[in-house]
Amino acid sequence: MRRIQGVAASKGVAVAPIIVIEEETVVVPNMDDPAGALVAAGSAVSAHLSNLSAEAAERGRKDAAEVLNAQALMAEDSMIADAVEEHLDDGENFDTALQNAATELQAMLASLPDPYLAARAADVGEVTDRLRRHLAGLPLSKGLSITEPSILCAAQITAAETATLDPNLVVGFATVEGGPTSHVAIIARSIGVPAVVGIPDLLTQVQSGEIGGIDGSTGELFVDLDDTMREELETRAAAEAAAHEAAQKFKGKRVSYRDAPVRVSANVANLDDVERAVAQNADGVGLMRTEFLFMDRPAPPSEDEQVEVYTTALSSFSDPVVIRTFDIGGDKPADFLEVDEEENPFLGVRGVRLYRNEPELFRTQLRALLRAAVAGELWVMIPMVATTSELVEVKEQLSLARDELAASSTPVGDLKLGVMIEVPSAALTADALAQHADFFSIGTNDLTQYAMAADRMSGTLEYLHDPVHPAVLALCQMTAKAGLRNGCPVSVCGEAAADPLAAALFMEMGITKLSVSAPSVNGIKAVIDQLDPEMMAEIQEQALSAADAPAVRMLNYRS
Ligand code: PEP
Ligand code: MG
Repeated sequence: MRRIQGVAASKGVAVAPIIVIEEETVVVPNMDDPAGALVAAGSAVSAHLSNLSAEAAERGRKDAAEVLNAQALMAEDSMIADAVEEHLDDGENFDTALQNAATELQAMLASLPDPYLAARAADVGEVTDRLRRHLAGLPLSKGLSITEPSILCAAQITAAETATLDPNLVVGFATVEGGPTSHVAIIARSIGVPAVVGIPDLLTQVQSGEIGGIDGSTGELFVDLDDTMREELETRAAAEAAAHEAAQKFKGKRVSYRDAPVRVSANVANLDDVERAVAQNADGVGLMRTEFLFMDRPAPPSEDEQVEVYTTALSSFSDPVVIRTFDIGGDKPADFLEVDEEENPFLGVRGVRLYRNEPELFRTQLRALLRAAVAGELWVMIPMVATTSELVEVKEQLSLARDELAASSTPVGDLKLGVMIEVPSAALTADALAQHADFFSIGTNDLTQYAMAADRMSGTLEYLHDPVHPAVLALCQMTAKAGLRNGCPVSVCGEAAADPLAAALFMEMGITKLSVSAPSVNGIKAVIDQLDPEMMAEIQEQALSAADAPAVRMLNYRS
């Protein structure tokens, strides 16, 4: 048996065969009858996609089922075949013709004003990928076909890929890339899949078919499990199940701290997450990461498509739903945006900084939000704000968006406008920002990354990623105090909100709302319920004056 230590990314224990995802090169050979081969490939791909669609429908993933069904129809449609034939007539080889035809069709569809057709551009790319795989003699699903519960090992799994994983089949995963607050890790937590990231030599240490064991709380991956370790993992799983059961007692309950009501809401990235949040009786949504609507597609979502998503989220809760405007950049690129290559994307044009370059894209989202606001209590927040002028510009765009909707007599609702505090300069000038903002939400993932100057994607800098470092805590406390002084409510929506010790410290700072992944909502309510405020006053003092994060971790805050 081998034990591999990685970075703990998403808690949970699982034992299952390992599947290693190899990076593959797909090359379609030239054929005597390319047209005939394409028709046959179209039927095979269509049948495969119809099966996937039926499986998605069975799992209650309506959105995914519809997309897969549309793709199944497209695979058999003559649109792609006709375009390929034109390229073959121009003398291109089969593979080049397939790729060029797809690029051309995607560009054509993306430019159409009809949002439904524009959204089909992404499907052309995915269907052509599968056609090429079939024609190259490879399995139809990218790199793997998972038929039984497995632990995936890969160099990298993108955030968007993680969001579509089936937790019944992918019972755990390990990657070479990624830190504890990388978006892959965050999504793994939201769908409740154990994950370990940041293992540099992972792919030389594991082989498909070996029995693996994963403990996402300790960051351990075991390969070629022996019986003793298997029993040990069963014991750990039982302890987690017991903790989960204890947390469930708080489902639907409201908790308070020092007699002030505290909300524990959910972080979501899509409507599947909204359903998970409803299932856990979360107190509303504290962060909807809307950029996931914009990723992995050749054209942005239309205003109408966005209205539909935001309206569904808003009408699912009576508590406020906090929707963050798109935070594209860093480790969340959008395919349709032409951006200059940056040396360090996390310090580049990201979040609010992009809105200056893309005012129309931003105003489309603002119009969608204003229209959706009639469906519930909407709080909108802006990511990556570093200085007040950014917020002033956002407000100007918001007022333009309002005017545009008024001109067409489109009904709009009220909304609150807030700021994410995730850049140290924002925490340090929180009093000034509070003059322009209705609320603050502290993004501890980025606040830690920027305060400690440690890339959140780096697995090797884990010792600098701890949000209870006194420097990060001081920035949080500064924000909390500025919020209280200016009547500006403060919440925490970074991953630290789900860290029991950090959550306890946030309570003592006077923060009255935490937002965590859906599976953590009730566990955090249980933590808050058991806090002893007298003890916490002392612990907070010690934490803020400690030398470093390990010293803070030594403090015993449990009464
Ligand atoms: C954060 O930075 O803490 C945050 C919540 O935003 P994201 O993780 O999406 O960057
Ligand atoms: Mg952030």
